Amino acid sequence: MNYKITNGQLLVYTEDGFKVEKKDLYIEGDKIAGIGACDPAKEDAYETVDASDKLIMPGLINMHTHAYMTTMRNYADDVDFDEWLFKRVMPVEDRLPKEAAYWSSLLGCMEMIRTGTTAFVDMHMYCGQSPKAAQQAGMRAFIGRGLVGEDLYEDGYSRLKEALEEKEAYESDLIRFVLSPHAIYSCSEKLYVQVAEEANKRGMLKQTHLSESVAEVDNAVSKYGRTPVKLLSDLGFLDQHTILAHCVQMRGDDMEILQRSGAHAVTNPASNAKLGNGFAPVVEMDQKGINLCIGTDGTASNNTLNMFREMGLLSLIHKGIHKDSTSAPAQFVLKAATVNAAKALGMEHQTGVIETGACADLNFVDLKAVSLFPNNNIVSSLCYSANGSEVDSVMIGGKFVMKNKEMLTIDTERVYYEMNKIINENL
Ligand SMILES: [Zn+2]
Repeated sequence: MNYKITNGQLLVYTEDGFKVEKKDLYIEGDKIAGIGACDPAKEDAYETVDASDKLIMPGLINMHTHAYMTTMRNYADDVDFDEWLFKRVMPVEDRLPKEAAYWSSLLGCMEMIRTGTTAFVDMHMYCGQSPKAAQQAGMRAFIGRGLVGEDLYEDGYSRLKEALEEKEAYESDLIRFVLSPHAIYSCSEKLYVQVAEEANKRGMLKQTHLSESVAEVDNAVSKYGRTPVKLLSDLGFLDQHTILAHCVQMRGDDMEILQRSGAHAVTNPASNAKLGNGFAPVVEMDQKGINLCIGTDGTASNNTLNMFREMGLLSLIHKGIHKDSTSAPAQFVLKAATVNAAKALGMEHQTGVIETGACADLNFVDLKAVSLFPNNNIVSSLCYSANGSEVDSVMIGGKFVMKNKEMLTIDTERVYYEMNKIINENL
């Protein structure tokens, strides 16, 4: 389908940052074909979409989550980390049937679409379910089966095999796969080396959790004589194809190592705060030239997948920490959630921006929403005022997945029905 989107305002990214322009936008197939004007001879080939009172902005990119965890939303709040992980989350994960992960991932996709996320990076433990949900939802997704153990080809082999099988079954223009060792406390040094080799050989991205808590860093220093960042650097795991969730506890020259490696850091402000782990030094990371992105983490540790909330939190937290109202401004935060994320995914100029030739991954935001009115500064309002409910329509790869608030790819009542059943039977 080709669309001419007219009467709206476009949020475009330039060297000077994001700015709003009142121009028409032309979509052909899955791509943005033109901004402003098109070939008059082709005018009839487009279906017109009236975007009066709408901002058309790049879809947000959630760079770290576990979509299947919606099952455990508000199931383990206000408890300490050990109780959260070992007594609440892990026992549920052990007893959940595999198909539960499909419905909970689909619920996650629903929440992400409703709040303007068009792409997400997922780490899961139930093979095939997350990609199946992303495919049903029509979302852009970068998915990895969590890998753990001593040796990728022995203890972890079945997991690698599963990871590669789901890649084979589900890889498409929208769905890609990421090799995903879980963390340095659940994977051996050897496994990280093996994953790096596999990723290089297959041209795949890789992701891991890194330096999330004080305990993780203290344990690495006593076990390996190095910080987790230094350890992964020495193992050859850090490069421009590596996505690192958390990066909260940076010590010594960790930030210099990250910058030199070209690896991408993903801050998860709500999750890191909720689990009592602190805050990543995002202002310092940015000053040192590290590419910084934003994730929600899973709903058991957040408890939403709403990137608007995450953007607002990120800015406010860092203004507070630095006692500086100019820290982490709206422009910086919005860039982290779009342009920087696309760069980390190897999709620079292909998503996270509105420009000719990019994929049509777009949010239509209601500028008459009371929370954004009177539109004094639209970029600011997206960071400080929006709560996600202002997203009216969402397009991913040129297809509407939500239009005028109606979900077009997900049977929402069925999702609620299946989720209630899963909760009644397993929690
Ligand atoms: Zn995580």
